[in-house]
Amino acid sequence: MPEAASVEVEPSPVEVANEGGRSEVVLVCEHAANRLPASYGGLGLPPADLARHIAYDIGAAALTRRLSTRLDAPAFFGTLSRLLVDLNRPFGVPSSMPVLSEATEIPGNRDLSEGERERRRRIVFEPFHATLADFLDRRDAAGRPTRLVAVHSFTPVFLGKARPWHAGILFEPPEAYGRAVLQALRAEGGLEVGENEPYRIDRTEDYAVPVHGTDRGYPAVLVEVRNDLLGTPAEVERWADRLARALTAPLPADEVIHVHA
Ligand SMILES: [Zn+2]
Repeated sequence: MPEAASVEVEPSPVEVANEGGRSEVVLVCEHAANRLPASYGGLGLPPADLARHIAYDIGAAALTRRLSTRLDAPAFFGTLSRLLVDLNRPFGVPSSMPVLSEATEIPGNRDLSEGERERRRRIVFEPFHATLADFLDRRDAAGRPTRLVAVHSFTPVFLGKARPWHAGILFEPPEAYGRAVLQALRAEGGLEVGENEPYRIDRTEDYAVPVHGTDRGYPAVLVEVRNDLLGTPAEVERWADRLARALTAPLPADEVIHVHA
């Protein structure tokens, strides 16, 4: 694996859609893609493994695009596989460049040198988050309110265990927005919606909601949809409709958070 290849030949790690969108909601889809720069040779994995949920969140990009249009919301997509560096992890934690994902070993992440780790930080992690942070700074400066929404999908079976939820809403304190979204999505009916399932927001394991959301004083949630429910454009459309309603649910006025410069 090269450590000194020119930065210019690498694909940009972030794609921004609908940057001028008028919604309060700003969408983040860190695990949108399973692509790897050619120089990484698939991180030693066969193409079949790179097509699995371990490499990206299946269906999440399509759902985010649909939501972006439906809400007129800006959307930020990661363009490279989470296996290269996970954009929703604090940089450098073990799951940030995983040696093992679910039960699959990632040969290209074994024994990474400090130089290679820094390279991934420099060409992928930092530009993605700097682009998003600059954008949010400009909204704050313009006095525009923001709701930060990260969109993910999860595998129906993890390490042999079936998961009962159709979707999950993940949030940390303050909980007003998370609770409002959860309640609104449950009110759609016929759905098993997990509260802080199948994962919990944890500052040592998550990035967008704590750093770009909570730390800025924004209402923030992470949405998880089971990936086998996003298999067709019609299903994606249905989830986009439900989530568009839930994510724009009104917040109790006294719990709206004001951001001070
Ligand atoms: Zn994800």
